[in-house]
This record gives sequence, C-alpha cells and structure tokens, in this order.
Amino acid sequence: MTDAALRTGRAESGTGPVDAYGRVIDYLRISVTDRCNLRCVYCMPLSKADLPESPETLTAEEIEAVVRAAVDAGFRKFRLTGGEPTLRRDIVDIVRRVASVPGVADVAMTTNAVRMPELAGPLRDAGLRRVNVHLDTLSVKTLPTLMRLGSAERIWQGILAAEAAGLAPVKMNVVVVRGMNEHEAVDMARLTLDRPWHVRFIELMPLGSSDEARLSVTHFVSNADTRARIEAALGALAPVARTSLSDESENFRLPGAPGVVGFISPVSKPYCGGCNRMRLTADGRFHLCLLHDDDMDVRAALRSGGTDTSRRERVRSILLRAVAAKPTGHRLDAGMHTKGRRMHQIGG
Ligand code: SAM
Ligand code: SF4
Repeated sequence: MTDAALRTGRAESGTGPVDAYGRVIDYLRISVTDRCNLRCVYCMPLSKADLPESPETLTAEEIEAVVRAAVDAGFRKFRLTGGEPTLRRDIVDIVRRVASVPGVADVAMTTNAVRMPELAGPLRDAGLRRVNVHLDTLSVKTLPTLMRLGSAERIWQGILAAEAAGLAPVKMNVVVVRGMNEHEAVDMARLTLDRPWHVRFIELMPLGSSDEARLSVTHFVSNADTRARIEAALGALAPVARTSLSDESENFRLPGAPGVVGFISPVSKPYCGGCNRMRLTADGRFHLCLLHDDDMDVRAALRSGGTDTSRRERVRSILLRAVAAKPTGHRLDAGMHTKGRRMHQIGG
C-alpha cells in the first residue's frame, strides 16, 4: 500500500463499486440471524426470549441470491455473522451456497464458537476459510459476568476445534469492559506468545438507545489504556506492517511471539476512511454503516417474483444505491450513538 493511499483513505485497487467518499466497497457482512445463545452484557438483553427464526429472516436461497447480485456488483469478500450464526440449523448449507458462487474470493465467520466442536469440520468442508471467535476472558469466573450464558471452557474447546479443522489463523475478539475484564487483557495477550493466534482488543461501541448502549458508555476502556497495561506486563509491542487499508485492526507483536496482538479502536481512532463494508441484516436490509441508522430494504425485492435474472438485477441495483448512500464519520467520542438496532440485530 502506498503512503498516498493511507493518507487519502482510498483503496488502491478492488473490483467493487466506489462510494461518494472514494472508498471501494467490496466486502459484505451477512447477518444470518438476530438470535443468540449467550446475551453478552453490551450486546443483547438477558430478557430476550429464545424464539424460533422469524418468517422475515432471509432463507439460505435468498442469502445466496444476494451474494450472486453482490458479486455482479463487484463484491468479493463475505463474512457470516449475527446474532450467533451457528444457531441457524442450515448454516452449513448457507456456507456451501455462498462459497460456491463464482467470483467469491473469501468466506469467513464471526462466532462465539460454542457450537464449533460439532460444526468446524462440516463448515470447513462447505468452504468456510476462517473464523473470528469472540472470547472476552480466560477466567471461568469472570466470563459469565460478560458473556452471560457462556462458558470459558466451551468457547475454548470451540477455538481448538476451529483450529484443528484448519479454520486459520484463529482471530479472537476481546471486548474490554471497565471493572469486568480490563485486568485480564494481559492473560489474553499472553496467548500470542506460544500460539499463532491474533488476539484483538475491541473498544466498546454504544449501539441503539438501550441499556447495552448505556453500559458501553459507562464501562468504556480506551485501547490506549489496554495497550499500556499489556506493555507494562509483557514488554514493548512492535508494529506489524499493515497489509490492507481496510483491516480495522492495528497489529503488533510481543517480543518473540508467533501470534499478533491487535487493537480495534472505533471510538478513540475511527477508521471510516478505510471502510470497505456493507452489511445485510437477517431480516433483509442493507445496513449502510454499523454506526448509523440508515438502511435499505432488499427483502421485498427478493420476494417480489419474476425470473432469477430480474431478481438479481433488482438486488444489484438496490446494493449499488446503498453503496452510493453510505455515510462516513461518527461522533461516538462525544457519546452520540444510533437510535435503532443493537449489535446482535445488525451483525458485528
Ligand atoms: N455472536 C458472534 C460473536 O459474538 O462473535 C457474532 C456476532 S457479535 C454481534 C460480533 C462481534 O461484535 C463480537 O465478536 C463482539 O466482539 C462484538 N460486539 C458486540 N457488541 C459490541 C459492542 N457493544 N461494542 C463493541 N463490540 C461489540
Ligand atoms: Fe451473542 Fe455475539 Fe452478541 Fe455476545 S456479542 S450476545 S455472542 S451476538
């Protein structure tokens, strides 16, 4: 990547459509469900009932149709997320459909890994390449205070299963929450000393006007503080050269470590200039940016009949309009946040 590209925030190449700010958008993050088996304190209310999938949720066939239209528009990278994507009973079929669309270069998943022991092999065989696993602490005692219905042992087993199935490199997402797991960041970073994993610390983002959003403000920890804590205990972090402008993680290595310590800092160091993403919600809307409420319906176009070709063209045209309308910038640092969906309803 050239210095000029870094300065302007423009991607140097890419097949995707270009938005109003000169960003090439070629990465679609697909939420396949709003449901989850964990209910983390900053993401999903504990009271949320375990309902069956709503009829509004896109089917596997509809998701494939969106991916085909996205490839026509120039998208190449796809990630399945949620909610917890592995709760979809047809998740292996969804991965197979997405991975087999000609032109798809990469299919990854963000997951809490609870179901990975039984699913990692079938997902890999279906075409999944990599997983990002969410684990906030190694402490069996602390974990349920954050990832409320979770268990550190089960997630750990899930991570090992993913790695054994070849879903590598394993990247871990650690959300740092004041007074809960900030002091355990050092133990998480230490994992990179003997494993080739990427352990990435994420700043809390307040999404929606909910208790979870309020907690995300009151319990915020900046990544500058997390980095200082890690360096004080484990030594100086050496920067790892960025290979892609759209990688939202600033990466480092501890002395002699095979793994990578990353910092994702949407609040203290916004990275909007390098954004290459569009999001599809489980109920069939293009969500233009995680940190804005703007969205566009695509479900009606998927369900309004016609030939496969006409449907694909309708979806492609909505996607191109969504790219053209994609906003930039946010004021999370000033405490301003979105009014609508929580994280589990957009797809983190
Ligand atoms: N259930 C999967 C998981 O937890 O990885 C996928 C969906 S989850 C919404 C995606 C990611 O969002 C999680 O890995 C977690 O790190 C992140 N996340 C959720 N709520 C957040 C918040 N309020 N601020 C920052 N990150 C958040
Ligand atoms: Fe579920 Fe992921 Fe949200 Fe936690 S962060 S409640 S695991 S969707």
